[in-house]
Amino acid sequence: MDANHKNLPKPVYGESPTYQMAVLQLLSVAEHIHLDQNILERLSKPKRAMIAAVPIRMDDGKTHTFIGYRVQHSLTSGPSKGGLRYHPSVDLGEVAALAMWMTWKCAIMNLPFGGAKGGIACDPDKLSIGEKERLTRRFTEEILPIIGPRMDVPAPDLGTDEQTMAWLMDTYSMSVGYACPEIVTGKPIELGGCVGRREATGRGVVYCIMQALQEIGISPANATAVVQGFGNVGSVTCQELALRGVKIVAVGDRYGAIANAAGIDVPALLKHVGDGKLLKEFPGAREIDPDDLLTISCTVLVPAALERQITETNAGKLKCRILAEAANGPTTPEADEILKATDLFIIPDVLCNAGGVTVSYFEWVQDMQQFFWDEAQVNQKLEQLMLKAFHQVRSLAKEKKIPMRLAAMSLGVQKVAKEKKRRGLYP
Ligand code: NAD
Repeated sequence: MDANHKNLPKPVYGESPTYQMAVLQLLSVAEHIHLDQNILERLSKPKRAMIAAVPIRMDDGKTHTFIGYRVQHSLTSGPSKGGLRYHPSVDLGEVAALAMWMTWKCAIMNLPFGGAKGGIACDPDKLSIGEKERLTRRFTEEILPIIGPRMDVPAPDLGTDEQTMAWLMDTYSMSVGYACPEIVTGKPIELGGCVGRREATGRGVVYCIMQALQEIGISPANATAVVQGFGNVGSVTCQELALRGVKIVAVGDRYGAIANAAGIDVPALLKHVGDGKLLKEFPGAREIDPDDLLTISCTVLVPAALERQITETNAGKLKCRILAEAANGPTTPEADEILKATDLFIIPDVLCNAGGVTVSYFEWVQDMQQFFWDEAQVNQKLEQLMLKAFHQVRSLAKEKKIPMRLAAMSLGVQKVAKEKKRRGLYP
């Protein structure tokens, strides 16, 4: 296999461009680090996948069958870990790609996990709370045989939250016959959740951005940011940037985008959205065309929504100094090629958004031990691990004169490859 498109394996995972993107990235890393072909053969295919029909009774009395997926890319380093996504575009290929990225992310952060991901093709905004609960519980029931605190531990992702994790935890606990908080992370604090987990991904993104700003010699007070996505990750990123003096000049979500060159009042926007109003109707900014959001001039651009947002069409038009990939897979390989020729400081997704899985790891450890930490401890350990990983990736990128993404993925792939080699091939 090589990085040539024509030689991509015929995917079991469909023609999903996101899966093709993840495999292409792996192939170019493999070429760069001269990865053993036998190990590449194993790493390029997820370990296990399940597709489940998830029938539920809708509020109108009709039955609707949703399709859900759980993919475990690697179980080499420990239980697999990864979010559960509710979004209309979810398919097997997308979930497989996200699972593969989780493997590299856990390895870069030196966490004892492999990568997994799950998802249900649905529009969570169109489901009632009761429908969401029935969907989550039935899906959990379907994937019961392949999840477990030492096998595969889900967490929230796009379209899911701590309530989703509470239903998952309860359904699993009812099945095994005892309360089992360690089956999921990102759950409510009162069920064994970890303080600071909800904010962890956004905080980790901002720790990385601060390092990058320092390196390019711009103080936070002189920096501006544009953020795509105002959900968990995007909103916390905005809050943490604003706290450090960075001016948020534009924000977007799936319904629209807004801008204010003088800076958006983030607490006021949070309240506005929290009150159930549309982001685009926020009175403290003007509405803009969402297609223009990513190309607004700013110091830091933060895609924090979906994958494949920066493509060959808009990559050449970016007007930022730092691209902080809070979302998973926001930049296509074609866009990456264009960006390589620029002096853009890219903080790749597998590093940039790793704060979430890092605090998920803390949560899992605390649940296993039934011994809980305070928020200061959580944040201090998160910052310590994020900075260590950031500087490892940065040093490698500088030493080998390679892009940050290649450096990050090389570290991740190499770690898993070493473990695979040591464990050998069974039988
Ligand atoms: P979320 O559901 O809380 O928020 C998603 C946001 O993206 C919402 O504001 C939504 O309106 C917006 N959005 C959806 N479609 C859009 C579109 N077409 N254009 C613009 N905005 C759009 O999800 P989240 O947990 O914040 O996750 C966001 C991204 O971060 C995802 O890529 C996810 O995989 C990644 N991520 C999340 C975590 C986590 O801990 N939640 C951890 C690591 C990575």
